[in-house]
Amino acid sequence: MLCANIMTLQDICQKVAGTHIASVWESLLGLYDQLDRNCQNFQNAFNVHCPSGCGTCCEHFIPELTEAEASLIAAYILFVKKTPELIDLLASVDEPGSQCPLYRADSDYHCIVYPARALVCRLFGACPSEDKYRKPVFRKCKYNVAMDTPIFVKAEDITLSNLDIATMNTYGLKLEMITSVSDTEPLPLAVVKAAQRLLFLMVYLDDGSNMPEPDTPAPIAS
Ligand code: SF4
Ligand code: SF4
Repeated sequence: MLCANIMTLQDICQKVAGTHIASVWESLLGLYDQLDRNCQNFQNAFNVHCPSGCGTCCEHFIPELTEAEASLIAAYILFVKKTPELIDLLASVDEPGSQCPLYRADSDYHCIVYPARALVCRLFGACPSEDKYRKPVFRKCKYNVAMDTPIFVKAEDITLSNLDIATMNTYGLKLEMITSVSDTEPLPLAVVKAAQRLLFLMVYLDDGSNMPEPDTPAPIAS
């Protein structure tokens, strides 16, 4: 039984299996998994890495999230971390500053929703973009002071590596197959709204009974 101690996002998906929201989360987690593996292969091949302890990108950035990305982060906060006070904190962010409200300098990876973080958070500084011919090229993040990380990796070298390497644009298109990428909102607002849509699931996840019927209309689409 998973109801007593739900530990991971995969457990949550299993718990509400057959619902639309579970299939959205599973699709997103599958995309993230593929992306993380491909980016790791790229980073290993070209010695691309962030300096230890750096989180400067999160200190100067608040991501715009799709509905699905926000929903996964809300699920992680509510059902995995079980910290609804974080939703209150996000709701109190009136005038978003330049720092992501989920950034903590003293936490693992500096992100308190790391396993659920959004697409752009996974791509930034770790994935090739495209040149004007739509070929993959990599430019080092301007905050990256790691001397052994190349400033630029040209398309020819990436292509010759024969690695299964996708670009940021490709991942954006893959995300669009899961959720609308034209209708995004800043992280605080998007996650608060997503959390409100997920509250009804708490009853199922708390006692494990009265599971929603398969193909229950999606809370995400309501
Ligand atoms: S969600 Fe996490 S990784 Fe993304 S900007 Fe915020 S702190 Fe950084
Ligand atoms: S992407 Fe840039 S700013 Fe972000 S952690 Fe890496 S080096 Fe630092």
